[in-house]
Amino acid sequence: MEIDIAGVGDGEYAFAFDVPASAINLDESFLGNVKVEGTLRKVSSQFFLTSTITRTYVRECDRCLAEIRVEGSIPLTVYYRTEFGDRRGLEDEDNVVTLEPDQESIVLDDEVRDAILLDLPAKMLCREECKGLCPGCGADLNNDACRCETPAIDPRWEKLAEMLKKNGDQE
Ligand SMILES: [Zn+2]
Ligand SMILES: [Zn+2]
Repeated sequence: MEIDIAGVGDGEYAFAFDVPASAINLDESFLGNVKVEGTLRKVSSQFFLTSTITRTYVRECDRCLAEIRVEGSIPLTVYYRTEFGDRRGLEDEDNVVTLEPDQESIVLDDEVRDAILLDLPAKMLCREECKGLCPGCGADLNNDACRCETPAIDPRWEKLAEMLKKNGDQE
């Protein structure tokens, strides 16, 4: 994903990329292609990139291990400046890339991959009220009943329990 900036004048330029997820070093949990569409606006020695990333990935639910497929888009904006460029009003250092004075192209791969990875949720649930798996029998409690067997009572203890019950009745 490379945008040629050699000799371009001030203005707004549209771009679109469509590459396999593996081409930007995303693992196989990312399916199909990653698409990036947007515009690059040049103002003197600065470039403002505004874009939308579309990607698909699968993750397991943290509780029940069901496969969750996530599709859709996330935004990506990047500000490119040359080393001595104007930095007026630039408080947020996120997504600021410094270009070499003689740089001829902008490569988006790292910014796109970082945006995709940063967007991944720390906790993944198939649904908020997922009941998860039983730690004893492994049953998916969303769909199945727990199969853990109630421990069989030792017959000797059964007798004792009866005696205790009788004593209790006499009181
Ligand atoms: Zn779940
Ligand atoms: Zn169980």
